[in-house]
Amino acid sequence: MSTQYKVVDNIAVIEIANPPVNGLGHAVRLGIVEGVDRACADAAVEAIVLTGAGKAFSGGADMREFNSPKGGREPGLNTVLSVIENSPKPVVAAVHSVAMGGGLELAMSCHYRIAAAKARIALSEVTMGLLPGAGGTQRLPRLIGLEAATHMIVHGGSIASEKLADSGLFDRMAEGDVVDAAIAMAKEVAARPGPHPRVRDMQVKHGNPEGFIAITRAAVEARAGHLPAPQRCLDAIEASFSLPFDDALALERRCFLELMNGPVSKSLRHAFFAERAAAKLADVPDAVLERTVERVAVVGAGLMGTGIAMNFLGAGIPVVLVDVSDAAIEKGRATIRASYEAGVQKGKLQQATLETRMSLLRTSTGIGDVRDCDLVIEAVYEDMALKLSTFCALDEIAKPGAILATNTSTLDVDRIAAETRRPRDVVGLHFFSPAHVMKLLEIVRGEKTAPDVLQTALAVARRIGKVAVVSGVCDGFIGNRMIAKYARRAGELLEQGALPEQVDRAVEAFGMAMGPFRMGDLAGNDIGWAIRKRRYAEDPAHPRFEIGDRLCETGHFGQKTGAGWYDYEAGQRKARPSPRTRAMLEAFWKEKGVTPRRFSDAEIVERLVYALVNEGAAILEEGIAARASDIDAVYLHGYGFPTWRGGPMFYADTVGLFNVRRSMRAMAQGDPSWKPAAIVERLADEGAAFNA
Ligand code: NAD
Repeated sequence: MSTQYKVVDNIAVIEIANPPVNGLGHAVRLGIVEGVDRACADAAVEAIVLTGAGKAFSGGADMREFNSPKGGREPGLNTVLSVIENSPKPVVAAVHSVAMGGGLELAMSCHYRIAAAKARIALSEVTMGLLPGAGGTQRLPRLIGLEAATHMIVHGGSIASEKLADSGLFDRMAEGDVVDAAIAMAKEVAARPGPHPRVRDMQVKHGNPEGFIAITRAAVEARAGHLPAPQRCLDAIEASFSLPFDDALALERRCFLELMNGPVSKSLRHAFFAERAAAKLADVPDAVLERTVERVAVVGAGLMGTGIAMNFLGAGIPVVLVDVSDAAIEKGRATIRASYEAGVQKGKLQQATLETRMSLLRTSTGIGDVRDCDLVIEAVYEDMALKLSTFCALDEIAKPGAILATNTSTLDVDRIAAETRRPRDVVGLHFFSPAHVMKLLEIVRGEKTAPDVLQTALAVARRIGKVAVVSGVCDGFIGNRMIAKYARRAGELLEQGALPEQVDRAVEAFGMAMGPFRMGDLAGNDIGWAIRKRRYAEDPAHPRFEIGDRLCETGHFGQKTGAGWYDYEAGQRKARPSPRTRAMLEAFWKEKGVTPRRFSDAEIVERLVYALVNEGAAILEEGIAARASDIDAVYLHGYGFPTWRGGPMFYADTVGLFNVRRSMRAMAQGDPSWKPAAIVERLADEGAAFNA
C-alpha cells in the first residue's frame, strides 16, 4: 500500500505511505492519480487534501527507479502533476515535514498549500548532478520570486518552511495538526467559485530577469567548475520567463534527461548509493543486536587520540582520555579546548556547547580508568610491541563485553587481537587525520571479530557522523594500501623525468583535491619515510623510493619544516615550485643515466588512477573489500577523489574495463608490475563492470 485514501467530512484525503521518505515511485504516482480520479468521481467529495504519512510529505523521486523500466512508466511525475493541476476539485497540499525535490514539485502542482513550521523545503536535485525535472524550475520562480528560487535550485540546500511563510509558496502556516488545518481550508476553498489557482498561470515577476540570470551565470561558471548541472538549472529557470509554460517544461525535461544520462550525475548517484551500501554487511543481518556504547576511552592523547575523542564529545558521549604523563594529557586537553575555541571564534560553536563538551572529557594517566568503558580505542604510537603490551593491559582491565579497538594504520589487527583472551571483541577503527574532521572511518574486521562488534562499530560510526567502510586485514587496509601504489607510481614519474608540480597539476585538473606531492608536504613526508624504512628492514627486496628517501634525509618533511617537495614562505601554505627539489631531481637523473622524458597530463592521470584501480581490483579479489563501491566510498570520503567521478572503481567502469585493461597491458610491456589483476581480466572479457 503506497497511498491511502479516506474521506473526512466530505474531503478526500490522499496520504502517501511509502517509507522511509515517501519517495515518488511508480506505485505512489499511480495511487495519487487514482485517488484524484476517485475523489472527482464521487459527488459527495468537495475537495482533496494531499499529504504524506510518517516523517515526510515526500522526499522526492525514487532514485532506485532511475534508468529502470518502472522509472519511465506512466503515470510519470509530470502526468501526476498535470492531473492534480487540472482537477476540477481543488487540491490542498498539507506539508507537515520534508518536501524535497519531486515532493516539493508535487506540492507546487496543488492549488493551495499549507505547511507546519520547521518542515524542510528544498529542490536539491543539483546535488545529484540533476535539475528539478517536473516543473520545479518553472513553478518555484513563479511562487517565491526569481532570485530566491534560483538560489534554492542552484545550491540545492534546504530551507525551513517558516522562512517561506510570507512567500507565495504557502497560502497558510498551520498552528496545530496540518492535515486538520488542510481539511478546514479545503472546505473553505471548495465553497469558492472556480477555477482554482494554478501556478502555471502566474507570471515570474522581476525588473531585469535577463540581467539577473547573466550575473548568476558568471558566478556559477566561476564556482561550479566541472559540474554541468548548475548551468542547466539556469537554462531552465531562464525559460520560466522567456518561454510559454509548456515549451519551458519541455526544455526543462530535455535538460534533465541530458544530465541524468551524463557521466557526472551517474557518478554522483553512485557515490550516494555507495555510501549507503557500505553501511551494510551481507553476513551481519540487521537482526544482530549492537552492544550498548555509553562510555568511551581513548588511549593515547596525541594527534589522533585527541581528534578521535572529539568525535564522541561532539555526539554527547563521555570520554576518558588516557596517556602516560600529566604533560601528555594536559597537552591533549589543551588541544581539544583550542580546537573548540577556534570554532567559537569563527561563530561555528556556542560557548555553552564548548563547556558541555569539555565537561564530558576526563583525562587520566592510569590505564585502569578505562575499566567502566564500553568501547576503548587505542591510539598510541605505531609500534607493534607497544600495541601488544597495551592490548595485554586492556585485556586485564576492560570490563567483559567491552569493545577493544585499535587505530593502527598498518599493523596486523589479528596479531593484536591474539594478544588478548577476547579476540572476538577486537576490531580496527581506522580514523583519518584530522580525525574530528575527516568523514571516513575504516572498520577493520579481524578474523575473529564478532558480528555484534561489527554491528556496534557501524552504529557508532553513524552516531558520530562518519561514513564507515568495512575492510579486511591487510597491510594498509583498503585506503592506504591503494595510496601506497599511487604514491609509488607518482615517485616513478619523478624518477623518469617529471616534476612534482607537473604531476600535481595533472591530477588536480582531473579533480583530485590535492596532488600526491602537495599532499605529502601537508601530511609530512616523514610519515611515509618511516613506513618505508620499516618495510625495507622487513623485506630487503622492497622497492626503494630513493628520491623520497633523499628528500627526507635532508630534513625536508614538508610544510612543518618549511620545505618539502615545494618551498613555503613562513606561516604560509601556498606551495611554490622548489629550485632545490629540481636540482635534486636533475642530479638524480644524471647519476642514474636517465634522459628525462615528457609526460602528457593524460598519461600522468592514467598511471596514477590506474594504480589505484589495479590495487583496488586486487583488494576486491582477496575479499578485503566486500564491494567495489566500498572502495569508491573510501576514496571519496578519505582521499579527496572527485565525487563527480564516482570513485576510482566507478571511474574505471566509466572508461570501460576493456579500455582500462588495454592501457595496463600496454604499460606492462615495459614494466611487468602493470599486469592487470585477474578480476580486471575476467570482467573485461565478460564486458562487465566492477559496479554491476
Ligand atoms: P602521536 O605520536 O601524535 O600520539 C601518540 C600518543 O600515544 C602520544 O601522546 C604518546 O604519549 C601516547 N602513548 C604512548 N605510549 C602510550 C601508552 N603506553 N599508554 C598511553 N598512551 C601512550 O601519534 P598519532 O599520529 O596520534 O598516531 C597514533 C596512532 O594512530 C598510530 O597507530 C598511527 O599509525 C595511527 N594513525 C595515525 C594517523 C596520522 O595521520 N597521524 C592516521 C591514522 C591512524
